[in-house]
Amino acid sequence: MKFEKYAFHPLIKSNLAELGFKKPTDIQYKAITPILKGEDVLAIAQTGTGKTAAFAIPTVQRLLDHSRKLNINAVRCLVMVPTHELAQQVKQTFQQVSKGSGLTIYAIYGGLEQDPQIKMLQSGIDVLIATPGRLFDLISQGYLSLSLLEVLIVDEADHMLGRGFIKDMRDLLPHLPKKRQTLFFSATINEEIKKLAYSLVHKAIRIQLSPKNPVAKNIEHAVAYVEMDDKRYFLEQLIKNNPEAKMLVFVRTKVRAERVQKALQRMELKADTLHGDKDQKQRDETLGRFKSGVLKVLITTDISARGIDIPEVDFVVNYDLPETVEHYVHRVGRTGRGFAKGQAYSFCSPEEKTILEQIEKELTEPIERISISKGDYAMVKALTEDDSKDWRQLLKEAPPTKKTAKGKKRRR
Ligand code: ADP
Ligand code: MG
Repeated sequence: MKFEKYAFHPLIKSNLAELGFKKPTDIQYKAITPILKGEDVLAIAQTGTGKTAAFAIPTVQRLLDHSRKLNINAVRCLVMVPTHELAQQVKQTFQQVSKGSGLTIYAIYGGLEQDPQIKMLQSGIDVLIATPGRLFDLISQGYLSLSLLEVLIVDEADHMLGRGFIKDMRDLLPHLPKKRQTLFFSATINEEIKKLAYSLVHKAIRIQLSPKNPVAKNIEHAVAYVEMDDKRYFLEQLIKNNPEAKMLVFVRTKVRAERVQKALQRMELKADTLHGDKDQKQRDETLGRFKSGVLKVLITTDISARGIDIPEVDFVVNYDLPETVEHYVHRVGRTGRGFAKGQAYSFCSPEEKTILEQIEKELTEPIERISISKGDYAMVKALTEDDSKDWRQLLKEAPPTKKTAKGKKRRR
Protein backbone atom coordinates (compact mmCIF):
# COMPACT_ATOMS: atom_id res chain seq x y z
CA MET A 1 0.00 0.00 0.00
CA LYS A 2 1.30 3.42 -0.91
CA PHE A 3 1.56 6.23 1.62
CA GLU A 4 -1.01 8.14 -0.45
CA LYS A 5 -3.64 5.59 0.55
CA TYR A 6 -3.14 6.04 4.29
CA ALA A 7 -5.52 8.25 6.24
CA PHE A 8 -2.73 10.62 7.23
CA HIS A 9 -2.98 14.36 7.61
CA PRO A 10 -2.46 15.89 4.12
CA LEU A 11 0.63 17.71 5.40
CA ILE A 12 2.27 14.42 6.38
CA LYS A 13 1.50 12.99 2.96
CA SER A 14 3.02 15.89 1.12
CA ASN A 15 6.06 15.82 3.40
CA LEU A 16 6.58 12.12 2.73
CA ALA A 17 6.27 12.74 -1.00
CA GLU A 18 8.86 15.48 -0.72
CA LEU A 19 11.21 13.05 1.05
CA GLY A 20 10.73 10.61 -1.82
CA PHE A 21 9.02 8.06 0.45
CA LYS A 22 6.37 6.40 -1.73
CA LYS A 23 5.55 3.22 0.11
CA PRO A 24 6.26 2.03 3.64
CA THR A 25 9.16 -0.29 4.35
CA ASP A 26 8.23 -3.62 6.01
CA ILE A 27 8.67 -2.33 9.54
CA GLN A 28 6.73 0.83 8.74
CA TYR A 29 3.92 -1.24 7.23
CA LYS A 30 3.69 -3.36 10.37
CA ALA A 31 4.26 -0.71 13.05
CA ILE A 32 2.27 2.30 11.82
CA THR A 33 -1.24 0.87 12.33
CA PRO A 34 -0.83 -0.31 15.96
CA ILE A 35 0.97 2.91 16.90
CA LEU A 36 -1.88 4.94 15.42
CA LYS A 37 -4.28 2.94 17.59
CA GLY A 38 -2.31 3.93 20.67
CA GLU A 39 -0.85 0.47 21.37
CA ASP A 40 2.51 -0.12 22.99
CA VAL A 41 4.97 -1.60 20.51
CA LEU A 42 8.25 -3.47 20.78
CA ALA A 43 9.70 -3.51 17.28
CA ILE A 44 12.82 -5.30 16.12
CA ALA A 45 13.93 -4.76 12.55
CA GLN A 46 17.34 -4.80 10.91
CA THR A 47 19.57 -1.77 10.48
CA GLY A 48 18.59 0.69 7.78
CA THR A 49 14.98 -0.52 7.46
CA GLY A 50 13.44 2.86 8.27
CA LYS A 51 12.62 2.49 11.95
CA THR A 52 12.81 6.25 12.59
CA ALA A 53 9.96 7.05 10.23
CA ALA A 54 8.12 3.96 11.51
CA PHE A 55 7.70 5.71 14.86
CA ALA A 56 7.82 9.33 13.68
CA ILE A 57 5.01 9.18 11.09
CA PRO A 58 2.26 7.71 13.32
CA THR A 59 3.40 9.74 16.33
CA VAL A 60 3.16 13.01 14.40
CA GLN A 61 -0.27 11.93 13.17
CA ARG A 62 -1.42 11.26 16.75
CA LEU A 63 -0.01 14.51 18.08
CA LEU A 64 -1.89 16.39 15.35
CA ASP A 65 -5.09 14.39 15.97
CA HIS A 66 -5.13 15.21 19.64
CA SER A 67 -3.74 18.69 19.38
CA ARG A 68 -3.35 20.36 22.73
CA LYS A 69 -2.14 23.61 24.11
CA LEU A 70 1.32 23.12 25.50
CA ASN A 71 1.93 23.63 29.20
CA ILE A 72 4.98 25.46 30.50
CA ASN A 73 8.01 23.14 30.56
CA ALA A 74 5.87 20.19 29.47
CA VAL A 75 6.67 17.63 26.81
CA ARG A 76 4.14 15.52 24.88
CA CYS A 77 6.47 13.00 23.28
CA LEU A 78 9.93 12.05 24.49
CA VAL A 79 12.40 10.11 22.34
CA MET A 80 15.40 8.66 24.16
CA VAL A 81 18.57 8.03 22.15
CA PRO A 82 22.17 7.14 23.12
CA THR A 83 24.25 9.75 21.28
CA HIS A 84 23.94 13.36 20.35
CA GLU A 85 24.49 12.60 16.66
CA LEU A 86 21.47 10.32 16.73
CA ALA A 87 19.42 12.94 18.62
CA GLN A 88 20.04 15.41 15.80
CA GLN A 89 19.18 12.88 13.16
CA VAL A 90 15.92 11.77 14.79
CA LYS A 91 15.01 15.43 15.27
CA GLN A 92 15.52 15.97 11.58
CA THR A 93 13.19 13.11 10.65
CA PHE A 94 10.45 14.45 12.97
CA GLN A 95 10.92 17.90 11.47
CA GLN A 96 10.71 16.56 7.94
CA VAL A 97 7.58 14.51 8.63
CA SER A 98 5.79 17.33 10.50
CA LYS A 99 6.96 20.27 8.39
CA GLY A 100 4.37 23.06 8.24
CA SER A 101 2.24 21.62 11.07
CA GLY A 102 3.48 23.94 13.80
CA LEU A 103 4.57 21.08 16.07
CA THR A 104 7.63 22.00 18.09
CA ILE A 105 10.47 19.51 17.78
CA TYR A 106 13.58 19.96 19.86
CA ALA A 107 16.69 18.00 20.80
CA ILE A 108 18.70 18.33 24.00
CA TYR A 109 22.06 16.77 24.75
CA GLY A 110 25.22 17.54 26.66
CA GLY A 111 28.19 19.43 25.37
CA LEU A 112 26.10 22.48 24.50
CA GLU A 113 25.14 25.47 26.63
CA GLN A 114 22.17 24.81 28.84
CA ASP A 115 20.58 28.27 28.85
CA PRO A 116 19.21 28.27 25.29
CA GLN A 117 17.83 24.78 25.96
CA ILE A 118 16.06 26.00 29.10
CA LYS A 119 14.54 28.87 27.15
CA MET A 120 13.18 26.58 24.46
CA LEU A 121 11.56 24.32 27.04
CA GLN A 122 9.69 27.18 28.69
CA SER A 123 6.92 27.32 26.14
CA GLY A 124 6.52 23.53 26.09
CA ILE A 125 7.61 21.05 23.43
CA ASP A 126 5.64 18.57 21.33
CA VAL A 127 8.52 16.21 20.59
CA LEU A 128 11.69 16.24 22.65
CA ILE A 129 14.62 14.06 21.60
CA ALA A 130 17.17 13.59 24.35
CA THR A 131 20.21 11.76 25.59
CA PRO A 132 19.81 10.71 29.25
CA GLY A 133 22.48 12.88 30.93
CA ARG A 134 21.25 16.34 29.95
CA LEU A 135 17.62 15.29 30.34
CA PHE A 136 18.14 14.54 34.02
CA ASP A 137 20.03 17.75 34.63
CA LEU A 138 17.06 19.70 33.31
CA ILE A 139 14.43 17.63 35.14
CA SER A 140 16.23 17.91 38.47
CA GLN A 141 16.57 21.65 38.07
CA GLY A 142 12.83 21.92 37.38
CA TYR A 143 13.15 23.15 33.80
CA LEU A 144 11.43 20.17 32.32
CA SER A 145 8.36 18.21 33.35
CA LEU A 146 7.31 14.83 31.98
CA SER A 147 4.10 14.56 33.99
CA LEU A 148 1.92 15.21 30.92
CA LEU A 149 3.87 12.94 28.61
CA GLU A 150 1.73 11.07 26.08
CA VAL A 151 4.35 8.97 24.29
CA LEU A 152 7.73 7.58 25.29
CA ILE A 153 9.88 6.28 22.43
CA VAL A 154 13.13 4.44 23.08
CA ASP A 155 15.30 4.12 19.98
CA GLU A 156 18.28 1.69 20.01
CA ALA A 157 16.26 0.12 22.81
CA ASP A 158 18.60 -2.75 23.65
CA HIS A 159 21.44 -0.31 24.14
CA MET A 160 19.33 2.09 26.20
CA LEU A 161 18.24 -0.77 28.47
CA GLY A 162 21.73 -2.25 28.56
CA ARG A 163 24.57 -1.73 30.97
CA GLY A 164 25.51 1.85 30.18
CA PHE A 165 22.06 3.41 30.36
CA ILE A 166 19.76 1.19 32.41
CA LYS A 167 20.15 3.21 35.59
CA ASP A 168 19.17 6.38 33.75
CA MET A 169 16.17 4.66 32.22
CA ARG A 170 15.01 3.34 35.61
CA ASP A 171 15.45 6.80 37.12
CA LEU A 172 13.33 8.21 34.32
CA LEU A 173 10.27 6.04 34.98
CA PRO A 174 9.04 7.74 38.20
CA HIS A 175 8.88 11.02 36.27
CA LEU A 176 6.49 9.60 33.69
CA PRO A 177 2.70 9.27 33.94
CA LYS A 178 1.49 5.65 34.21
CA LYS A 179 -0.95 6.11 31.37
CA ARG A 180 1.16 6.64 28.30
CA GLN A 181 2.12 4.96 25.07
CA THR A 182 5.53 3.30 25.06
CA LEU A 183 7.43 2.31 21.92
CA PHE A 184 10.71 0.41 21.77
CA PHE A 185 12.68 0.19 18.54
CA SER A 186 15.88 -1.71 17.94
CA ALA A 187 17.85 -3.71 15.39
CA THR A 188 19.25 -6.14 17.92
CA ILE A 189 17.92 -7.50 21.20
CA ASN A 190 18.74 -10.38 23.52
CA GLU A 191 16.38 -12.38 25.73
CA GLU A 192 17.33 -10.61 28.94
CA ILE A 193 16.75 -7.14 27.52
CA LYS A 194 13.56 -8.29 25.87
CA LYS A 195 12.18 -9.36 29.27
CA LEU A 196 13.18 -6.04 30.74
CA ALA A 197 11.49 -4.18 27.89
CA TYR A 198 8.26 -6.14 28.42
CA SER A 199 8.26 -5.23 32.09
CA LEU A 200 8.16 -1.58 31.08
CA VAL A 201 5.30 -1.74 28.59
CA HIS A 202 1.64 -2.62 28.80
CA LYS A 203 0.47 -5.55 26.65
CA ALA A 204 2.95 -4.62 23.97
CA ILE A 205 2.45 -5.63 20.39
CA ARG A 206 5.61 -7.38 19.36
CA ILE A 207 6.85 -6.93 15.85
CA GLN A 208 9.98 -8.77 14.90
CA LEU A 209 11.25 -8.92 11.34
CA SER A 210 13.92 -11.44 10.24
CA PRO A 211 14.87 -12.35 13.78
CA LYS A 212 17.25 -15.12 12.69
CA ASN A 213 19.80 -13.13 10.74
CA PRO A 214 20.38 -9.68 12.18
CA VAL A 215 22.54 -8.48 9.26
CA ALA A 216 20.32 -6.78 6.67
CA LYS A 217 19.86 -8.66 3.39
CA ASN A 218 21.25 -5.87 1.26
CA ILE A 219 24.67 -5.92 2.94
CA GLU A 220 27.41 -8.15 1.52
CA HIS A 221 29.91 -8.79 4.27
CA ALA A 222 33.19 -10.68 4.22
CA VAL A 223 36.33 -11.15 6.27
CA ALA A 224 40.04 -11.33 5.32
CA TYR A 225 42.87 -12.68 7.46
CA VAL A 226 45.48 -9.96 7.84
CA GLU A 227 48.33 -9.58 10.32
CA MET A 228 47.74 -6.75 12.82
CA ASP A 229 50.72 -4.74 11.56
CA ASP A 230 49.70 -5.15 7.92
CA LYS A 231 46.15 -3.89 8.23
CA ARG A 232 47.07 -0.39 7.17
CA TYR A 233 48.48 -1.64 3.85
CA PHE A 234 45.23 -3.40 3.05
CA LEU A 235 43.23 -0.31 3.94
CA GLU A 236 45.57 1.71 1.75
CA GLN A 237 44.93 -0.57 -1.23
CA LEU A 238 41.17 -0.61 -0.66
CA ILE A 239 41.12 3.19 -0.69
CA LYS A 240 43.39 3.43 -3.71
CA ASN A 241 41.37 0.89 -5.67
CA ASN A 242 38.16 2.78 -4.86
CA PRO A 243 39.17 6.43 -4.93
CA GLU A 244 35.62 7.74 -5.19
CA ALA A 245 34.13 5.48 -2.54
CA LYS A 246 32.73 6.65 0.78
CA MET A 247 34.27 4.52 3.50
CA LEU A 248 33.54 4.22 7.21
CA VAL A 249 36.44 2.56 9.04
CA PHE A 250 35.88 1.18 12.55
CA VAL A 251 38.75 0.77 15.00
CA ARG A 252 38.89 -0.42 18.59
CA THR A 253 40.06 2.73 20.37
CA LYS A 254 40.35 6.50 20.00
CA VAL A 255 44.14 6.21 20.00
CA ARG A 256 44.05 3.70 17.18
CA ALA A 257 41.76 5.99 15.17
CA GLU A 258 44.39 8.73 15.34
CA ARG A 259 47.15 6.26 14.53
CA VAL A 260 45.42 4.91 11.44
CA GLN A 261 44.77 8.45 10.26
CA LYS A 262 48.49 9.25 10.65
CA ALA A 263 49.43 6.15 8.67
CA LEU A 264 47.06 7.16 5.87
CA GLN A 265 48.49 10.66 5.96
CA ARG A 266 51.97 9.22 5.33
CA MET A 267 50.49 7.47 2.32
CA GLU A 268 49.06 10.81 1.23
CA LEU A 269 45.51 9.63 1.68
CA LYS A 270 42.94 11.97 3.18
CA ALA A 271 40.90 10.78 6.12
CA ASP A 272 39.42 12.23 9.28
CA THR A 273 38.56 10.81 12.70
CA LEU A 274 35.46 10.91 14.88
CA HIS A 275 35.51 9.66 18.48
CA GLY A 276 34.68 10.59 22.05
CA ASP A 277 37.78 12.72 22.60
CA LYS A 278 36.67 15.23 19.98
CA ASP A 279 34.52 18.11 21.13
CA GLN A 280 30.94 18.40 20.02
CA LYS A 281 31.64 21.06 17.43
CA GLN A 282 34.35 19.00 15.78
CA ARG A 283 32.13 15.93 15.81
CA ASP A 284 29.30 17.81 14.10
CA GLU A 285 31.60 19.35 11.58
CA THR A 286 33.32 16.07 10.65
CA LEU A 287 30.08 14.12 10.40
CA GLY A 288 28.60 16.92 8.28
CA ARG A 289 31.49 16.70 5.82
CA PHE A 290 31.23 12.93 5.65
CA LYS A 291 27.46 13.05 5.15
CA SER A 292 27.80 15.57 2.33
CA GLY A 293 30.55 13.53 0.68
CA VAL A 294 33.31 16.15 0.91
CA LEU A 295 35.11 13.76 3.24
CA LYS A 296 35.42 10.25 1.79
CA VAL A 297 37.16 8.27 4.53
CA LEU A 298 36.12 8.49 8.17
CA ILE A 299 37.91 6.53 10.88
CA THR A 300 35.82 6.08 13.97
CA THR A 301 35.06 4.07 17.11
CA ASP A 302 31.76 2.41 18.00
CA ILE A 303 30.44 5.87 18.86
CA SER A 304 29.31 6.01 15.21
CA ALA A 305 28.06 2.44 15.04
CA ARG A 306 24.51 2.92 16.20
CA GLY A 307 21.68 4.52 14.33
CA ILE A 308 23.69 7.02 12.33
CA ASP A 309 22.24 7.30 8.84
CA ILE A 310 24.86 8.47 6.38
CA PRO A 311 23.81 8.46 2.76
CA GLU A 312 25.70 6.27 0.32
CA VAL A 313 28.37 4.69 2.44
CA ASP A 314 29.94 2.28 -0.07
CA PHE A 315 32.14 0.36 2.36
CA VAL A 316 32.22 -0.31 6.04
CA VAL A 317 35.62 -1.59 7.14
CA ASN A 318 36.11 -3.33 10.45
CA TYR A 319 39.79 -2.47 10.70
CA ASP A 320 39.60 -4.08 14.11
CA LEU A 321 36.94 -6.66 14.83
CA PRO A 322 34.29 -5.46 17.26
CA GLU A 323 33.95 -7.18 20.59
CA THR A 324 30.37 -8.34 20.30
CA VAL A 325 27.99 -9.52 17.63
CA GLU A 326 25.74 -6.50 18.35
CA HIS A 327 28.56 -4.14 17.52
CA TYR A 328 29.27 -6.11 14.36
CA VAL A 329 25.65 -5.86 13.24
CA HIS A 330 25.42 -2.13 13.96
CA ARG A 331 28.75 -1.32 12.33
CA VAL A 332 28.06 -3.16 9.08
CA GLY A 333 24.57 -1.69 9.20
CA ARG A 334 25.96 1.77 8.41
CA THR A 335 25.98 0.70 4.78
CA GLY A 336 23.07 -0.71 2.77
CA ARG A 337 20.58 1.80 4.16
CA GLY A 338 16.97 1.97 3.01
CA PHE A 339 16.73 0.28 -0.38
CA ALA A 340 20.47 0.71 -1.16
CA LYS A 341 23.12 -2.03 -1.27
CA GLY A 342 26.31 -2.03 0.76
CA GLN A 343 29.58 -3.83 1.34
CA ALA A 344 31.45 -4.53 4.56
CA TYR A 345 34.94 -5.95 5.04
CA SER A 346 36.53 -7.09 8.27
CA PHE A 347 40.25 -7.48 8.84
CA CYS A 348 40.92 -10.35 11.22
CA SER A 349 44.37 -10.80 12.73
CA PRO A 350 45.45 -14.10 14.33
CA GLU A 351 44.85 -12.50 17.75
CA GLU A 352 41.25 -11.77 16.78
CA LYS A 353 40.26 -15.22 15.53
CA THR A 354 38.44 -16.16 18.70
CA ILE A 355 36.33 -12.98 18.51
CA LEU A 356 35.49 -13.84 14.92
CA GLU A 357 34.42 -17.35 15.92
CA GLN A 358 32.20 -15.92 18.63
CA ILE A 359 30.60 -13.43 16.26
CA GLU A 360 29.92 -16.14 13.69
CA LYS A 361 28.44 -18.42 16.31
CA GLU A 362 25.89 -15.76 17.18
CA LEU A 363 25.10 -14.74 13.62
CA THR A 364 23.21 -17.58 12.03
CA GLU A 365 25.40 -17.74 8.95
CA PRO A 366 29.18 -17.87 8.58
CA ILE A 367 30.82 -14.73 7.21
CA GLU A 368 32.27 -15.12 3.72
CA ARG A 369 36.09 -15.43 3.58
CA ILE A 370 38.22 -13.45 1.18
CA SER A 371 41.18 -15.65 0.38
CA ILE A 372 44.37 -13.76 -0.29
CA SER A 373 47.18 -15.70 -1.93
CA LYS A 374 50.70 -15.36 -0.55
CA GLY A 375 51.73 -13.52 -3.70
CA ASP A 376 48.87 -11.03 -3.49
CA TYR A 377 49.53 -10.49 0.19
CA ALA A 378 53.18 -9.71 -0.46
CA MET A 379 52.18 -7.44 -3.33
CA VAL A 380 49.88 -5.34 -1.14
CA LYS A 381 52.75 -4.83 1.30
CA ALA A 382 55.21 -4.05 -1.46
CA LEU A 383 52.91 -1.50 -3.07
CA THR A 384 52.63 0.67 0.02
CA GLU A 385 53.65 4.28 -0.08
CA ASP A 386 54.13 4.29 3.66
CA ASP A 387 57.87 4.76 4.02
CA SER A 388 57.96 4.54 7.80
CA LYS A 389 58.65 1.07 9.08
CA ASP A 390 56.93 -0.50 12.01
CA TRP A 391 58.33 0.03 15.47
CA ARG A 392 59.84 -3.43 15.71
CA GLN A 393 61.84 -2.76 12.59
CA LEU A 394 62.87 0.66 13.90
CA LEU A 395 63.99 -0.84 17.19
CA LYS A 396 66.04 -3.44 15.38
CA GLU A 397 67.75 -0.78 13.35
CA ALA A 398 68.29 1.68 16.18
CA PRO A 399 71.68 1.72 17.90
CA PRO A 400 71.40 0.00 21.30
CA THR A 401 71.16 3.12 23.43
CA LYS A 402 70.11 2.82 27.05
CA LYS A 403 66.68 4.18 26.31
CA THR A 404 65.69 1.63 23.68
CA ALA A 405 67.13 -1.17 25.72
CA LYS A 406 64.95 -0.13 28.63
CA GLY A 407 61.94 0.36 26.41
CA LYS A 408 62.37 -3.11 25.00
CA LYS A 409 62.59 -4.62 28.41
CA ARG A 410 59.42 -2.98 29.57
CA ARG A 411 57.52 -4.19 26.54
CA ARG A 412 58.28 -7.75 27.40
P1 ADP B 1 16.96 2.34 10.93
O1 ADP B 1 16.60 3.22 12.09
O2 ADP B 1 15.99 1.19 10.75
O3 ADP B 1 18.37 1.87 10.94
P2 ADP B 1 16.55 4.77 9.40
O4 ADP B 1 15.27 5.18 10.02
O5 ADP B 1 17.77 5.51 9.80
O6 ADP B 1 16.80 3.18 9.59
O7 ADP B 1 16.34 4.82 7.80
C1 ADP B 1 17.29 4.36 6.89
C2 ADP B 1 17.16 5.10 5.58
O8 ADP B 1 16.00 4.71 4.88
C3 ADP B 1 17.09 6.60 5.75
O9 ADP B 1 18.00 7.21 4.87
C4 ADP B 1 15.67 6.94 5.40
O10 ADP B 1 15.56 8.23 4.84
C5 ADP B 1 15.29 5.85 4.41
N1 ADP B 1 13.85 5.53 4.41
C6 ADP B 1 13.09 5.33 5.49
N2 ADP B 1 11.80 5.03 5.14
C7 ADP B 1 11.76 5.04 3.78
C8 ADP B 1 10.72 4.81 2.83
N3 ADP B 1 9.48 4.48 3.18
N4 ADP B 1 11.04 4.91 1.50
C9 ADP B 1 12.31 5.23 1.14
N5 ADP B 1 13.33 5.45 2.00
C10 ADP B 1 13.07 5.35 3.31
MG1 MG C 1 17.56 3.83 13.77
